[in-house]
Amino acid sequence: MSTAPESNQETVVMKFGGSSVADPDKIRQVARRLVDARERGVRVVATVSAMGDTTDTLLELAGAISPHPHPRELDMLLSTGERISCALVAMAVHDLGHEAVSFTGSQAGIITDPVHTKAKIREITPFRVVEALDEGRIVLVAGFQGFSRDTMDVTTLGRGGTDATAVALAAALGATCEIYSDVPGVFTADPRIVADARKLAVVSYEEMLEMAASGAKVLMLRAVELARGQRVPIHARSTFSDEEGTRIEDAEGMEQAIVSAVTHSEDEVVFALRAVPDRPGSAAAIFDAVAAAHVNVDTILQNVGHGSAELSFSVPHEDVPAARRALEHAQESIGAIKIEEIADLGKVSLVGAGMRSHPGVAARMFRTLADEQINLRLISTSPIKVSCLIPRLHVEQAVRALHEAFGLGEQ
Ligand code: ADP
Ligand code: ASP
Ligand code: MG
Repeated sequence: MSTAPESNQETVVMKFGGSSVADPDKIRQVARRLVDARERGVRVVATVSAMGDTTDTLLELAGAISPHPHPRELDMLLSTGERISCALVAMAVHDLGHEAVSFTGSQAGIITDPVHTKAKIREITPFRVVEALDEGRIVLVAGFQGFSRDTMDVTTLGRGGTDATAVALAAALGATCEIYSDVPGVFTADPRIVADARKLAVVSYEEMLEMAASGAKVLMLRAVELARGQRVPIHARSTFSDEEGTRIEDAEGMEQAIVSAVTHSEDEVVFALRAVPDRPGSAAAIFDAVAAAHVNVDTILQNVGHGSAELSFSVPHEDVPAARRALEHAQESIGAIKIEEIADLGKVSLVGAGMRSHPGVAARMFRTLADEQINLRLISTSPIKVSCLIPRLHVEQAVRALHEAFGLGEQ
């Protein structure tokens, strides 16, 4: 069916995650949703993740070939997953009688910096996308990938990166942004762990940033940063139902809960450094080297005593090899230090904008964890978040206990 394009039509960017395109039936279901939106008179751009666990499988394959896969080649490999799913969705749209075209990130004009496996989107020049929309087509864009003009190479955006593709496309096209996944929105805790977790109607950008940074993987951190920077509201909702999801938007002026959500992550590795020289420049040398290796550092703690410092910091599991290399490099300037890696920790956090004006949240959190006999290893705070690193074994128990203690469940 050819649909006459109208320039004043609204544009929507719809993003579907891996579980939403995991098999041919689901791909047909996604195509149906796109066609329904098109038939309502909307210009439709969809960006999709790789099918199911494809990215994990490709990573395993790379690991079976090489202990340290070359980052450029890793991006060549990983970016294929999203090309497959977006071509398949385009085929399914054709079968429903509509015109569709799929583009790689580079064809869609997604320009990134040259950092392989965690590139940042610099700009989008979506000429081909706009042209295809003007012709009345449904446009599919392979998520999670872009292209660097500096190196002329394919890049990928980091795990969960299709969320960032969606937000950046919505900003470039002046479109609304809908992120579809296997959960119907953002909840007070991971609904897989807490049975009575409650769906939140609205979450501010600020709270969503803290939630994403502390492990609520329903939205990728970088995508939320882009949404806040570009003022793109996100509607996070279910692929498999029509119910209203969660709006992530500027919530200024709204009454804000003291605690909105409990988040967790089981992905932390702590580097505990001892015998760090207690003099100006030691921490700078260490974290300069770590930053140059593009390692995402989370919690940092330093203690000084007996002429030397102890410094601990946590990094995501995938950044461990880069952090090790960075620490070797730092020792060339500060001298030898003692390094211990602690890999059996996880993190539980409370997030809430109302915390800022209500003291006592941290104390109640520590009391709740103590009552569960859970030991705290590291604590870190922001004005609207308190995080504790605890034994990984106890993370789920801690999430449930905190959700209960702060009364976050269904009323
Ligand atoms: P997709 O593959 O569609 O990108 P993800 O697996 O990345 O989806 O994110 C959705 C998952 O996020 C859910 O299945 C859920 O288990 C998890 N999750 C963690 N914390 C939350 C939360 N607070 N609210 C909703 N989902 C959450
Ligand atoms: N397929 C990539 C991943 O698994 C990107 C994404 O799903 O958004 O991380
Ligand atoms: Mg995701």
